[in-house]
Amino acid sequence: MDLTDGPEEVTALLLRIPISGHPPNLVVGDERGFFAVEYSTYEYAVRKPRDGMVAVTNHFVSLSGPKRPEELQGNSKVRYKNLLRIVPEGPRTPERAMEVLGDHSEPGAICQHGQAGMHTSVAYVVVPSERAIYFAYGKPCRVPFEKYEL
Ligand SMILES: [Zn+2]
Repeated sequence: MDLTDGPEEVTALLLRIPISGHPPNLVVGDERGFFAVEYSTYEYAVRKPRDGMVAVTNHFVSLSGPKRPEELQGNSKVRYKNLLRIVPEGPRTPERAMEVLGDHSEPGAICQHGQAGMHTSVAYVVVPSERAIYFAYGKPCRVPFEKYEL
């Protein structure tokens, strides 16, 4: 399956995968495009990019629920707003994406060091056109990203 199948087919596949834990929101894409999917047991939403970007943190933007505890929800919402602010400030390159993942601007630092009990444990940037993943085994502000070719 690839994006030529369309968001509906990709989402239909995701909905067949049993959910364990908190329902996910994630970005699906390849070298031709990308979109965000939010899904739970009962519903799903597809968010297409605006101005060439789609941001995802730890809360649903399009779906009404389920909700996380308010402290975590608030932390996720300010990080989301921060992403919408800082991503357009720079070029759309893998290097810039890695820099954004190590961002500490407040409110809404992307790299978490205990805010609301949240800690960034790993970070990665997927670059379909390079068939590569840049992976940081730890906080992206402290450890270098290593490139893995697929
Ligand atoms: Zn950090």
